[in-house]
Formats: sequence, structure tokens, C-alpha cells
Amino acid sequence: MPPLAPPPADQLSATELLRMALEQYGVDLWFACGFTVEDIVLLHMASSFGVTPSAFFVDTGRHFEETYQIADDVRRIMGIEVRWVFPASHDLDDVLARDGATTITSDTACRRRCCEVRRLGPARRALEGARAWVVGARRTQTTIRQTLAAVEESPATYGLPRYAPLADWRFGEVVNYARAKKLPFHALYRRGFMSIGCAPCTAAPRPGEAERAGRWPFEQEVEREAGQHLSGIWPGGKP
Ligand code: SF4
Repeated sequence: MPPLAPPPADQLSATELLRMALEQYGVDLWFACGFTVEDIVLLHMASSFGVTPSAFFVDTGRHFEETYQIADDVRRIMGIEVRWVFPASHDLDDVLARDGATTITSDTACRRRCCEVRRLGPARRALEGARAWVVGARRTQTTIRQTLAAVEESPATYGLPRYAPLADWRFGEVVNYARAKKLPFHALYRRGFMSIGCAPCTAAPRPGEAERAGRWPFEQEVEREAGQHLSGIWPGGKP
């Protein structure tokens, strides 16, 4: 009798999906870490399987001070060494000469160019040599992410299988997991933030707003992605 086919990824729990991905790819499975509660929960899950996760952090140079503080906490408390990657200086020179430093908070084209140079380019470099990667994205974060697949492989995922084990988790479930395990917790969540990004482009959502409403708040929701989560979210393509 042939072995039973594994269940579809969307029917697996977060730990089942993550374990499967780690067994398949090992150290070539890279965790995109922005030190959000989702990212830290995923690193903890991987560690609980007895593996040392490969993880990278894109230091855009525009993060909150609290993000750098929790980066130190993750290394000190969880013992996880996260690889840091940075924008290419010549690209930064070009985009700053063209757009200046503050247009990103009012002009979508400028902020897309900034995201390309500071976030997407370094992420692409970090994933060179990776065979698959993991993100903390969840479906309830925005209406755009409602169709987020637990596993996707497309040009938007840099052509690599991209796992989103927490796709069907709600914010409260992630926070409860982090509290139960006493994990480092980004200080901005205590100030009402539900999504953490770069300081100039992130605010706490107002009551009743979507979790990511504070990300690039001058934009329409359909535009509110750095670009690496869903295919075709920006009319006209990536920045
Ligand atoms: S989130 Fe804002 S500061 Fe960060 S890379 Fe994008 S535009 Fe630049």
C-alpha cells in the first residue's frame, strides 16, 4: 500500500508545518526576523524542536530604538544569533539624493523606492543560498492578507517556498503564546502598536482599525505592504 500523502499545508498546525519545513530544509530554511512577536514565537517554536534556526534581520537604519533593544534581548535571553543585513550604501546614496529623507511619509513612490533599497534588496541578498524561508505574516492583519497561503512559491516570494506557519493565528493567540513562554516582548506593543516596522512609517492603529492600519498610514490599504508578502498587491508591480 503506498504511503498516505501528507495533508495540505493549510490543514497543519503551526508547529506541524514548521517542523515539516525544518525537516525538509534544515539550516537552509531562513526566518525573516523583524523582532515582532510573531517572529519571536516562530524562533521559539523552532528552538523547541532542538534546532538552531537560521534567521536574518534587515536593519533598514530607520528602526525604533525599542527594536534594537529587543534584538539584544533575543540574543541574550533566547541565545539566538540573528544575522543582520544592511542596505547597499551606493543604493542609499542614490535614493537619498533623489528623494531626500522625509518624503517617504507622504509620497508612495518615494516610500516604495526607500522600501526597495532599505528592505527588499537586503532581504533578497539575505536569501541568496536559502532554499526556503519563513515569515510571521497572518491573515487577520489586513484584508489584503486574508488570502495569505500557509506556503507560497511565486515571484513575490523570491521564487522560494515561503512558509507562514502563523497564517491563521490571531494577534491575541500570538501574544498569549509569547506570554506563556515568557519570551522577549517588543516594548511598543505595550503602547498600542500591533505591527512593528520602521519608525517613520509605523504608528499604533486607532481603536477599531485594522492591525496594520498604522503602517504607511497615508496610503490606501491595498498599498500597505513592503512588497514581499503577496503577489500583485501593487498595481504596476513592485517598486
Ligand atoms: S518602511 Fe519606511 S523607512 Fe522603512 S524602508 Fe520602507 S519607506 Fe523606508
